[in-house]
Amino acid sequence: MKTIIIKILKALLKTLEESQTKTPKKPNQRIIFYPRQTKDQLTKSFKAEEFYCKCGKCGIQRVDMVLVEKLQNLRDRLGSKVIINSGFRCHEHNRNVGGVLSSQHLNGCAADIWCKNLKKALKIAESLGFRGIGVYKDFLHLDNREGVVARWQNK
Ligand SMILES: [Zn+2]
Ligand SMILES: [Zn+2]
Repeated sequence: MKTIIIKILKALLKTLEESQTKTPKKPNQRIIFYPRQTKDQLTKSFKAEEFYCKCGKCGIQRVDMVLVEKLQNLRDRLGSKVIINSGFRCHEHNRNVGGVLSSQHLNGCAADIWCKNLKKALKIAESLGFRGIGVYKDFLHLDNREGVVARWQNK
């Protein structure tokens, strides 16, 4: 009896292992990680350092490349400079600036941007399909959240 159970368990384990090797879990390629010193150009207009956490201390930074591509698109259509006020935030910095626990900034999926014509930028951002848009007096929060879309004003 015991050996039968062991045999069944071993067979189960084998099929489990096989199924795992057949469908390997792909790492999330959207989000890239890099150390603070990275000077890479992410897109035509944006450098990695523009998205660094503003605490000035934390090491590993993260940024969602789909977000950066969208911001590049926005910048191209706008035809003027887009300043990143806040990109990635580590937990400590997020707490210090009063960010919510579920902030998209923590994953590198959000950017608070400033440009000369925020109204025009908002229209373009809407057409580009940013999934989270927060409208503030002198900046826009744009993010690439998964799940339900979000829209808020002057929060
Ligand atoms: Zn930080
Ligand atoms: Zn934000």
